[in-house]
Amino acid sequence: MLGPVILAASRSDKMRRFVSAAPGTKQVVDRFIAGETVEDVIPIVQDITGRGLEVTLDVVGEDITTVEQSYAARDAYLELIGRLKELGLGERAEMSVKLSMFGQSLPSPAGGPSGPAAAFPNGHELALANVRPVVEAAAGIGTTVTLDAEDHTTLDSMFAIHQELRKDFPQTGCVIQAYLFRTEEDARRLAADGSRVRIVKGAYKEPASVALQDKSEIDKAYVRIMKILMDGEGYPMIGSHDPRLISIGQELARRAGRKLDEYEFQMLYGIRSEEQNRLAAEGHRMRVYTAYGTDWYGYFMRRLAEKPANLLFFARSILTK
Ligand code: FAD
Repeated sequence: MLGPVILAASRSDKMRRFVSAAPGTKQVVDRFIAGETVEDVIPIVQDITGRGLEVTLDVVGEDITTVEQSYAARDAYLELIGRLKELGLGERAEMSVKLSMFGQSLPSPAGGPSGPAAAFPNGHELALANVRPVVEAAAGIGTTVTLDAEDHTTLDSMFAIHQELRKDFPQTGCVIQAYLFRTEEDARRLAADGSRVRIVKGAYKEPASVALQDKSEIDKAYVRIMKILMDGEGYPMIGSHDPRLISIGQELARRAGRKLDEYEFQMLYGIRSEEQNRLAAEGHRMRVYTAYGTDWYGYFMRRLAEKPANLLFFARSILTK
């Protein structure tokens, strides 16, 4: 019941100001966000990779409102990739990006007829132009980028950008969400194309016209989609903390005849770390989605929405400060 309310709050500026200023917030945010700067996150990447796990790094941010912010997003990822290169961490760390942080949702013409991005007819083209150098730089250090899935209105654009990037960088990944009615068809297309695909349950507030609302129905859809990916030509990335889905994933991989390096598991930084270590110790490729940066509000609120106990913990830490 609380989840949809928190997800609605994740898009409210008033709530953003309240939550950001509340005493006690930082303590809870730190559980999910690995610092504010590249220098904060690097020791965490070293720790995770030192334990035999991989990472995917997310500079938090979404729904930017100016063209300058979209350039800043691109530059933040380029700075990160530069640091990974210096430290020789490229092969263990990939990047995850949200295209709405790269300008995808800006109105057209992006920046106005004479604005700084007048060369781009719309936000879609701007996001593509901003993300391409990031994908290119990632490829230059032996790694890749995965395009996160945001709300359903953004997905046609995300898949088109994914397809475009794959022409030059076939390792570019994307995310599909089990709760959407469209996803089984997307999974079939991506699996036949040999794509890297992360499957997740879905973290946004979506209407019943486009998405399943019942948790057990979403789990059943997740299993059907995992099967499509495991039986296909691509590289499945199982993004979940759900122990039942993880063991079904292992079984589907075994039945599809996949070796341990032909799929992977992914979990979020700060959630079920022992299970992350356990899967890695069993020989699985286990990647930790590690988010950092200052614009953490939307990401943080989605983590609260996923587990009501997080909200109680958060409320207690505010009240006791
Ligand atoms: P759940 O049934 O929600 O959780 C299973 C168990 O995991 C819970 O019982 C609990 O013990 C633990 N758990 C789960 N979430 C939390 C939490 N927040 N705090 C504490 N414990 C928790 N969604 C998108 O819409 N787009 C994306 O691009 C996207 N990328 C993701 C990348 C990764 C690597 C992962 C793991 C998730 C991503 N998500 C994304 C979020 C996803 O859609 C789900 O909202 C989230 O993973 C919770 O679903 P679950 O499969 O873990 O199952």
